[in-house]
Amino acid sequence: MAKSPQDRAAWLREELQRHERLYYQEAKPEIADREFDRLMAELAAIEEEHPELRTADSPTQRVGGEPTEGFEQVEHEPPMLSLDNTYDHDELREWAERLERLLPDTEIDFVCELKVDGVSLSLLYEDGVLAEAATRGNGRVGDLVTANARTIRTLPLRLPAGAPARLLVRAETYMRRSVFAALNEEREASGQELYANPRNTTAGTVRLLDSRDVARRRLDLACYEWVQPAGGDGNEERRSHGDCLAALADLGLPVDGSWRRCASLEEVVAFCDEWQAKRGELDFETDGVVVKVDDPELRERLGTTAKAPRWAVAFKFEAEQAETVVRAINAQVGRTGAVTPVAELEPVRVAGTTVKRATLHNYEDLARKDVREGDAVVIEKGGDIIPKVVSVFEERRGPGSKPFEPPTTCPVCGEKLYQPEEEALLRCVNAACPAVVREAIRHFASRNAMDIEGMGDWLVGELVGGGLVGDPANLYGLTVEQLADLRKTNDARLGEKAAARTVASLAESKGRSLSRLIYALGIRFVGDATAALLARRFGRIEALAAASAEELEEVEDIGSRIAESVRAFFDSERNQDLLRRLEDAGLQFEEEQTETGAADGPLEGKTFVLTGTLSGMTRNEAAARITALGGKVTGSVSGRTDFLVAGEKAGSKLRKAEQLEVEVLDEAGFEELLAG
Ligand code: AMP
Ligand code: ZN
Repeated sequence: MAKSPQDRAAWLREELQRHERLYYQEAKPEIADREFDRLMAELAAIEEEHPELRTADSPTQRVGGEPTEGFEQVEHEPPMLSLDNTYDHDELREWAERLERLLPDTEIDFVCELKVDGVSLSLLYEDGVLAEAATRGNGRVGDLVTANARTIRTLPLRLPAGAPARLLVRAETYMRRSVFAALNEEREASGQELYANPRNTTAGTVRLLDSRDVARRRLDLACYEWVQPAGGDGNEERRSHGDCLAALADLGLPVDGSWRRCASLEEVVAFCDEWQAKRGELDFETDGVVVKVDDPELRERLGTTAKAPRWAVAFKFEAEQAETVVRAINAQVGRTGAVTPVAELEPVRVAGTTVKRATLHNYEDLARKDVREGDAVVIEKGGDIIPKVVSVFEERRGPGSKPFEPPTTCPVCGEKLYQPEEEALLRCVNAACPAVVREAIRHFASRNAMDIEGMGDWLVGELVGGGLVGDPANLYGLTVEQLADLRKTNDARLGEKAAARTVASLAESKGRSLSRLIYALGIRFVGDATAALLARRFGRIEALAAASAEELEEVEDIGSRIAESVRAFFDSERNQDLLRRLEDAGLQFEEEQTETGAADGPLEGKTFVLTGTLSGMTRNEAAARITALGGKVTGSVSGRTDFLVAGEKAGSKLRKAEQLEVEVLDEAGFEELLAG
């Protein structure tokens, strides 16, 4: 009997989900890949013909939709924190003793898990359906990458019946070593540059704009935290962390099975040692063990610092080492003009990646270790640090071996190098040195800074080398014609299309937040976290530029070293001129989206959630208007939401709001509210 397309689609969806589970979670496939692909194609065809039958959780949605324009932002509640690190048994013991002091006369159970080395994601299921997936971002606000996360095959799009109405899970997405190796083999075969390691590749993949590309990268997932409601608001009973992990696995979420409950620190130490020895056997990279307090009540009593929970700690594995040969020692000129030696190595595998270069820190260090070209050396790779040369086999040197002579002139501009007092490094102090300018521009355009699409190494090199750009402000004067004419090779120009895209992304970057701009300026010691602190505290470039060193030091987490560096930056006339020209170009010199909105605005204390498409403005504009009036915008509807602004095609958030009796505004109602 012929089934209706609706029934057939429902059957296919269920069947495909079952096979995915068998394949990815249970590793017991019942059908061949080709058969699976055929079922998938059939479902896709039905959905193509009857778009109304396509559901958000359909397996076809994993292969990715159309490219999106950038990412929406979503606020993390609670924030996604970092972890404190320990590097040996003693430090681990000190951590446990601190807990004992904070919780006297209490038995503390721990849970140990592998620290998978990937990229963290926050996953939100609403009514059993994956509603949102977001990156950690700065911990408070991340990028909404739901479409990309849907391509992770081990991640269920729908949970079985009986799943909580709202489930917030923190997880690590990562690339298996085997998948990474295959990817690099493919790249090598097609003459593309190799990726450095699985973690960075994962980070890049998660933020790809076209989820079809993400699907091809075959990312995996390990869930490590069920964020339970803080209690007291009538929610389900709270479980211990170990029970949470088991419950997540029961719901079909991927949880790495190596975790273990430990009743004493001795057991924790044993777990750490065991995996330090065994981790090479895993098909994914781990950089340590995460030790967590099991009991939710104790966790609550311990609380968190601004950076990390007190109830968890990372035990970092010792770095992995390998032997190789130094082919050459080159000089690298950094953004601040610092010239540092880099060892070019005979490629060697360490900790699952191929290493070709290692840092030698500075010339003093190099001289002390007496590293020479041609030397056999031991290199080490730990966590996210660039590999470094740790020791030399002096006895293996040939008769021609000579000590390495540090350069006296800049390898890029030829200027005489300068050795600042009390600094172990050499500097090129030529502010117009192309290497310094190039690094400054690269930093300015980078992902966490102004995120200028298309401004890659090649283009920056051309622009600086060709004299078109001498500082970041010059970027904003570039025209499509200028860019289109650049020669990629002798007979290929960059072309109109690519040039237009780059100019458009430059224009778009003008709207980036103040904290990104501060970071992009490349002030020494001001990383993205510090930039965010400064933006929040001062709100405007002028106010930051006018702040004295003392005022700067009053900001939490800012010490004298940073304060002096910030002062020195703004005192430089050259930088003042740069800032004037950036302002003229139309960059954001004020913080628009403060965390809690402008103080004293008419919407102060009100929390908004946006959903669906508005006709008169984008969601970002809507969010900007809310925060300008003192309101706050969050990503998901909860009991604390005051208003849901629902545009066209509002989805699960609208249902949720209705359930929770949150006031829903349509676009007209929203406009009215904004108008006061
Ligand atoms: P860090 O990157 O040093 O701040 O360490 C915190 C990060 O470790 C988290 O954001 C996660 O991405 C990652 N991580 C990996 N495995 C785990 C785990 N089992 N529990 C908690 N965090 C983990
Ligand atoms: Zn130079």
